[in-house]
Formats: sequence, structure tokens, C-alpha cells
Amino acid sequence: MEINGYTRTCGLMGNPVEHTMSPLIHNTLAKKLSHNLVYVPFHVEQGEVISALKGAYGLNLLGLNVTVPYKSQVMEGLAETDELAEKIGAVNTLVRTEGGFKGYNTDMPGLYRAMCSEGIQLEGQDVILLGAGGAARAVAFLCASKNVSGVYLLNRSLDKAREVAREVNEKAGKECICPMALSDYEALPDKKFLAIQATSVGLYPDTDKAVIEDEAFYRKIHTGYDLIYKPAETKFMRLVKKQGGRAFHGLKMLLYQGIIAYELWNELKVSEETALEVYEVLKEKMEITE
Ligand code: NAP
Repeated sequence: MEINGYTRTCGLMGNPVEHTMSPLIHNTLAKKLSHNLVYVPFHVEQGEVISALKGAYGLNLLGLNVTVPYKSQVMEGLAETDELAEKIGAVNTLVRTEGGFKGYNTDMPGLYRAMCSEGIQLEGQDVILLGAGGAARAVAFLCASKNVSGVYLLNRSLDKAREVAREVNEKAGKECICPMALSDYEALPDKKFLAIQATSVGLYPDTDKAVIEDEAFYRKIHTGYDLIYKPAETKFMRLVKKQGGRAFHGLKMLLYQGIIAYELWNELKVSEETALEVYEVLKEKMEITE
């Protein structure tokens, strides 16, 4: 693509941003769809978030992604926040509007689209959610909105699990999230669950760790979805498979949160065929062969 006077710019603000895969997703999309658009990473220092936002708006940027540690902090500088993102309390996508940026959260719909694409049904499921950080919060909201049968939310720090459960149950207007200490996993009912792994345990380079190591726990899981995508097969996934379950990594979640952001910026719908072509490029980059 030739960069010229009509080229639109999108980017990622965060700290760090150096290992991001987002430029690959968006620049591949722009190329495949013949859009005159470039996507670049912006390393933003603490204390510079609001001035970065103003600068981005002044420079006529079309949109931004926001990553750790600014997903909540950036909200104070927005002209408007989408209802879902407001509920979750975090944005990862900013869309240029008249008067400022509007914030969205595409992590949650991105995970849902990834699950649908993998043939995982969320509706009506008994769910175990591991973790109570930023990503787990979005997953808890997703579960509440998709009429799951119930969610056991297990976290190392019980107070954080309780806080996420309280907030989601309150906003959903029903008691669907049950908080538990991670160490109490043996008290889970004796049935088969969809387990969503949303802790950072097992993330590269600590690939020989799983948040729960006891094999007996994995007998309760029919499907395991790990939000981590590096490595492509986490120890959590290996333990699920060893007990006969299906296991998935989080690369498709990353893909679809990006696709949804691109759709918002360009006011279009990316076909599943194009999405899967971008997925192949991502897999190749990450040397994933399956
Ligand atoms: P975060 O806010 O820092 O939360 C980390 C979570 O991991 C907390 O629940 C924390 O428990 C738990 N944890 C950390 N170390 C632990 C340990 N040694 N033992 C037990 N629990 C531990 O992180 P996040 O933003 O939610 O991200 C979580 C994971 O999701 C990361 O691996 C990230 O890469 C992945 N992610 C993937 C995507 C995607 O597109 N695929 C998107 C977002 C995030 P405490 O509360 O007790 O500290």
C-alpha cells in the first residue's frame, strides 16, 4: 500500500506495546480490504494518557486500541462510552466521533465470536471462571449476558473474586456468579463444566505452570478455553486434554477483538472468510501449525 495524503491512521496505546500482534491484524485487514489505512503502536508513559488522547484526536487519528495498563484510566478522557464498556468498566477500542473519542470494549464480544467460531456454546452452560483480573471481569459479564446456567468464579485473592461477582450480579440483576477461593476447587459440584482460564498463570515464559495443577480438577472439565495464546498450548490445555476434554487457546479472541475494532472504525462488517485468512497470518507469525 502506498502511504499518501489520504492515508488514515489507527494505533495502539499502552505500556508496553512492543510485543503486540495488533499491527499485524489491522495492517493485514487493510491490505486484504484495499483500505488506505495504517496501524501503529504508541508507547505511552504513565501520566501522559490524557495528553496522548488529545494529541491523537488533534492529529485526526481514526481510532485507537487501548491495552494494559490504561483500559480503565483512559475512560476519563473520552467524549462518550458505550453502554457495555461502561458496565465492564474498561475500554479497549476508541472510535473518533465529533468532539472526541467514544470508548468500546471489544474483548467481550471478541471472546464470544471466538467461542462461536470454535463451536463452543456458552448459553446454558455450567461455567468455571479462573481469575478475577481485567480479562476475567469481561468474561464474567459475557457469561451473565448469555444466560449461562451458573458461574463459579475462582481466584487466588478471594476478595477480588467477591468484588467481581458482586458487581456483575448487581448489574445483571441476578445471582449468576458464585465467588470462591482458588484453593477451594475441591468443593466444586460433581458435574462437567466449561472452564475459562483467565489468569496470567502459564503465560510465556512460565509455560510449565497451570493455575490448578491437581489432575482431579480437570476431570470436571469437558471444554477448556485458555485466554492465553502464547504458548499456543498451555499446561492448562494439556491437563484438560489429558482427562479427555477439548481445549482451546486465546488467539481467536485476540483476532476477533481486533476485527470488531476494525469494523467500528470503518463502519463495515468483516466476512468470516476474511477473518479466517487473517487468523492464518497470525498463526504463521506465531508458528502455530494446528
Ligand atoms: P490481570 O488483570 O493482571 O489479572 C491476573 C489474574 O491472574 C488475577 O486473577 C490474578 O489473581 C491471577 N494470578 C496471577 N498470578 C497468579 C498465581 N501465581 N496464582 C494464581 N492466580 C494468579 O490480567 P488480565 O488483563 O486479566 O489478563 C489475564 C490473562 O488473560 C493474561 O494472560 C492475558 O494475556 C490474557 N488475555 C488474553 C486476551 C486475548 O485476546 N486472548 C485478552 C486479554 C487478556 P489475583 O487477583 O489473586 O492476583
